[in-house]
Amino acid sequence: MKKSFIIIANWKLNGNNKSIKKFLKLLDSFLFIKAYSCKVIFFPPLIYLNHASKIITYNNLFIGSQNVDNHSFGAYTGEISSYMLKDIGIKYVIIGHSERRIYHKENNKIIAEKFKLLKKIGLIPILCIGENYNQKKKKQTKKIIIKQIDEIYNLCGNLSFDNTIIAYEPIWSIGTGKIANAKNIQKIHNFIKKYIQYKNEKKKIKKLKLLYGGSVNETNIQDFLKEKDIDGVLVGGASLDFYQFTTLLTLSNNLSF
Ligand code: PEP
Repeated sequence: MKKSFIIIANWKLNGNNKSIKKFLKLLDSFLFIKAYSCKVIFFPPLIYLNHASKIITYNNLFIGSQNVDNHSFGAYTGEISSYMLKDIGIKYVIIGHSERRIYHKENNKIIAEKFKLLKKIGLIPILCIGENYNQKKKKQTKKIIIKQIDEIYNLCGNLSFDNTIIAYEPIWSIGTGKIANAKNIQKIHNFIKKYIQYKNEKKKIKKLKLLYGGSVNETNIQDFLKEKDIDGVLVGGASLDFYQFTTLLTLSNNLSF
């Protein structure tokens, strides 16, 4: 039994003014009535961040940003900086999502730059890491994870993983319905935790949370959350439907105390 979980709804490129307002109003009331202990973070498309922030009232419901630029200001048309996110009260920011790595060619260096900027101004990165199908087949999962984490340490030096969220998301499972084995995910989470502890030269890391993401739904969420080193889940597809998403919240709440 664990105290409480972090449950993330990543809406990616979905929704509009009306659907986001409706979903968030219902979710806000749902959480208020149920008083679940989990922390819920909703990630709308960036254009709706401000609007979404004004709808929520429940103290354990937050709005986060799906992305941020690796520059603070200047001639970067179309981008949004960490300072701007902070300015409108955003606290959580997803970086390194595989869809940004693949479609927007973001590499580990760019992601490390984003991580550094977020840490500098006190925002909480949700750093997505994970291997693709070929890398998994070649048994390179640990190697890929080490590379993704090392790049952060190389750029940020002693900047710690205190108060950070890592989402381990095997790319082959994102949006594919290919369900990962919870016991295997636990082993990888344990590896990530130990690796960061080792990199931190055994200095205690405070408030590092490890989430799992990849085709999470009502049939598998509890298998993941029962594992010792899984502190929550990042949900894409199954977060788009209010009934399905709140079922996930209830199932996770049933495992908390
Ligand atoms: C994701 O958005 O990172 C994700 C895990 O999506 P899905 O739950 O649809 O696999």
